[in-house]
Amino acid sequence: MKILRAEPTGLCFGVRRAIESLEQALAGGEPVYAIGSPIHNPQEVARLADRGLRVVESEADVPENAVAFIRAHGVAPAVVERLKEKDASIIDGTCPFVRMVQTRARELSEAGYHLLILGDEKHPEVAGILGYVTGKATVISSVASLFSSTIFRTSGRIPKLGLVSQTTQEERLLAEVAKAAAGKADELRVYNTICHATRERQQAVAELAAKADGVIVIGGHDSANTGKLHRIVNDSGCPAQWIEHAGQLDRQWVKDKNTIGVAAGASTPDWLIEHLISAIREIAGRQGDVSNE
Ligand code: SF4
Repeated sequence: MKILRAEPTGLCFGVRRAIESLEQALAGGEPVYAIGSPIHNPQEVARLADRGLRVVESEADVPENAVAFIRAHGVAPAVVERLKEKDASIIDGTCPFVRMVQTRARELSEAGYHLLILGDEKHPEVAGILGYVTGKATVISSVASLFSSTIFRTSGRIPKLGLVSQTTQEERLLAEVAKAAAGKADELRVYNTICHATRERQQAVAELAAKADGVIVIGGHDSANTGKLHRIVNDSGCPAQWIEHAGQLDRQWVKDKNTIGVAAGASTPDWLIEHLISAIREIAGRQGDVSNE
């Protein structure tokens, strides 16, 4: 059996940086409070929890004077203000790519643009971006949701429309939404705020799907970018499995393949990928050849 590993795949720059800052903070021996899960990977969060990470639902749950960690996908400015009021020591793990979306959102809304955010309205990154909007904003997830949005249904021409994207969206979708929005606006300003790690990983998994008999995508079921990788493989017609850890492998499914592709979400740590490759090799009954694509 041949095992092909997507390249690049797994931990992106932003999540690696967040994990390193967390590990550094936890080495001090004090508990560190993360608002919301800091990494969309339950296994990695469990590993850090053993070292003193406490995941809390909101800043209200962070004790006075505690160490608070802001995840890679950022938070609204109001959250930071409330942490400061509690005299928390803040470790800001916001990824620079997310910071860029927040900055663009603030700039566009301050300049009078109605802001469209292409993303998942329930995703914490989108909640954080909305916190930077000073005017009006609409979150859309597709061209259909753009057409059914209140601003599109109830307005004639829109004088100033801005468009940014959650960092993990697909380029193709952003281009489709931009084209549809252009038909309604007198002026449209679009910032492609999809991060390069996302773009590269999506491209790599598409290339992998073209060569493999089946692709296993490993990553948290709450990870948006892992879900996108899984969808790209499915859309290509190549069979795909989405698992969180090697223990969830469907052994028979693996046995039936000659060439297995492995891809991982941007929040999947290296150790989970290595465990997966070892498990596939074991199922293959011999040392499968692993190569990077
Ligand atoms: S996926 Fe992109 S935006 Fe998100 S943390 Fe990684 S590098 Fe940053």
